[in-house]
Amino acid sequence: MRQKLVAGNWKMNGSKASIKALLDGIKQGIGDVQSAEVAVCPPFVYLGEVESQLQGTPIVWGAQNLSTEEKGAFTGEIAASMINDFGCKYVIVGHSERRSLYGEDDALVAKKYRVARAAGLRPILCIGETLEEREKEVTNEVVARQIAAVIDLEGVAALADGVIAYEPVWAIGTGKTASPEQAQEVHKFIREQIAASDAEVARKVQILYGGSMNAGNAVELLAQEDIDGGLIGGASLKAEDFLTICRAAG
Ligand code: PEP
Repeated sequence: MRQKLVAGNWKMNGSKASIKALLDGIKQGIGDVQSAEVAVCPPFVYLGEVESQLQGTPIVWGAQNLSTEEKGAFTGEIAASMINDFGCKYVIVGHSERRSLYGEDDALVAKKYRVARAAGLRPILCIGETLEEREKEVTNEVVARQIAAVIDLEGVAALADGVIAYEPVWAIGTGKTASPEQAQEVHKFIREQIAASDAEVARKVQILYGGSMNAGNAVELLAQEDIDGGLIGGASLKAEDFLTICRAAG
């Protein structure tokens, strides 16, 4: 049985005060989450706050991005070692906003996966098709290509050291969620793709769904056989909504 993971991606939101209130709320309710792992991914500058507030709780934390460089003259970049320094377990790589707004391609995302893994972080690899790609019926090709970039660079076994988040781009931040059937179909395809290279890795790897998952639709999505949790944007900014999703995960 794969453990479920619910990870909150706070994106570029929050302040010291709002983050304290949000974490207080999550900490108060975390006792009702039975078996799922719960993670939050704040903006870099709040990692220190999050670390000090979550130490000693069952909640883990991660970063939203990382540099492929180790250190040096890379103004504005954040290295994997720095993310480690703040006790992060996870780091998101290849979020669709990084791909579409900052030009990150499959090769760069695969390199980020490699650097994260080498540093002992668990990368959350985001993949997913745009609306145009779904309408052209090339969803499977797109997600297969995005995963293949990592397999080609690191080998299929590397996928067991991370998490995959299937996030249809048309569902992110739009309020449009993939139906449980649509999501399950792609999750199953992703697992089959990995199984073609390594059945054991495919059986083990957690595949999260992301894209307007909320307190109202989480139960149905999380009940699907190949959905092992969620990557949550908007709904992770409200403690009660986020906790409802976490409880739905088990
Ligand atoms: C995300 O940013 O990964 C995401 C899924 O956002 P939202 O839940 O707001 O659609």
